[in-house]
Amino acid sequence: MVDHNVGKLAKRLRMMGYDALFFNGKKDSRMIATALAEGRVILTKDTQILKRRVVTSGQLKATLIKSDEPEQQMHQVIESLKLDYQPKPFTICLECNHPLAERSKQQVKDLVPPYVFKTQSQYMECPACHRIYWRGTHWQAMAQKLRNFMEGPVSDPNNIMNPGKVLDLP
Ligand SMILES: [Zn+2]
Repeated sequence: MVDHNVGKLAKRLRMMGYDALFFNGKKDSRMIATALAEGRVILTKDTQILKRRVVTSGQLKATLIKSDEPEQQMHQVIESLKLDYQPKPFTICLECNHPLAERSKQQVKDLVPPYVFKTQSQYMECPACHRIYWRGTHWQAMAQKLRNFMEGPVSDPNNIMNPGKVLDLP
């Protein structure tokens, strides 16, 4: 459960294949209720949330994100939640956090640009928002950046967590 004050983490976690809900920051009690109901961990910069009884008692897990720097934030999340460094890009919709479903070439024939249809054979669709994903140049760039992020030093300027074209997916 990604609080609005670290909202960019939501898309980045989804890029790696992790279920990440975004919270718009309107009502903390709502975020807490959803996190409890769905067994989610809250990621936030809000120290007040960490002081709540539901968190101090251990009922709800919350992680205080320390850095303002997205790449450092990702490392903190991965380490504190003991996530594996095994990214599964394109398993979760970047826009709505819904698991993607495989689609055959024929199924997407009228849904993707002709040049894409000609050159790509693997497609994924979000059953919720119907966005279609394919392994085009954006995908390749993203996969490469994920590899750099997993292998490279934290301060690598070419790392995935810097803003770049990879987020302008079709
Ligand atoms: Zn979607």
